[in-house]
Amino acid sequence: MSLMFGKARTCSTADRGPAECNLVLLGVLGCGKSALTVKFLTKRFISEYDPHLEDIYSSEEIVDQQPVTVRVMDTCDQEGPMNSERYLSWANAFLVVYSIDNMESFKGCQLYLQTLALHNKTFRPQTPIILLGNKLDMDRYRQVSQCDGEALASRFGCLFFEVSACLDFPSVQHVFYEAVRRARRG
Ligand code: GDP
Ligand code: MG
Repeated sequence: MSLMFGKARTCSTADRGPAECNLVLLGVLGCGKSALTVKFLTKRFISEYDPHLEDIYSSEEIVDQQPVTVRVMDTCDQEGPMNSERYLSWANAFLVVYSIDNMESFKGCQLYLQTLALHNKTFRPQTPIILLGNKLDMDRYRQVSQCDGEALASRFGCLFFEVSACLDFPSVQHVFYEAVRRARRG
């Protein structure tokens, strides 16, 4: 799918047709962005996914009794948030992902959060951000405490969740739906 979509309308009402919401997943290679995207779209965990694939997927969802076309950009940055133009203005909400068993991935999040904070300072309306610790099933190898996650999220005014792409589907769906809710609140 091409990257030609414009920024979605987020506050459509019935007379303006179905609502749309563009979500962007960010984070270092290997934190589980693609696994989370596939889980949300298919309810399945796919353990091996082309690590260099970046794409946009579309799904018709019902969030709080309202139909909404959710588009998910599963990004693949080789060098952190360098070429961020392609998603900064497109996004209605960001999910910044790290892996709880990898401190480097958590540090990597901070760069993304700084880039997004700068963007939000300059442009209105603010684009909501969710900080998301993935691989909760790897709790015994945890390197990033829940407190660390919460502290970083509150520093940047984000919501915070921990999930696993290979455990239950409802928790993952909840995070994506929460992103849609925040985006539509504007
Ligand atoms: P991406 O580079 O951020 O898109 O990361 P991927 O989705 O390709 O995942 C990188 C690796 O982590 C793959 O081997 C996945 O199977 C694995 N992975 C992703 N999510 C989870 C998770 O929640 N738990 C565990 N144990 N492994 C995961
Ligand atoms: Mg990927």
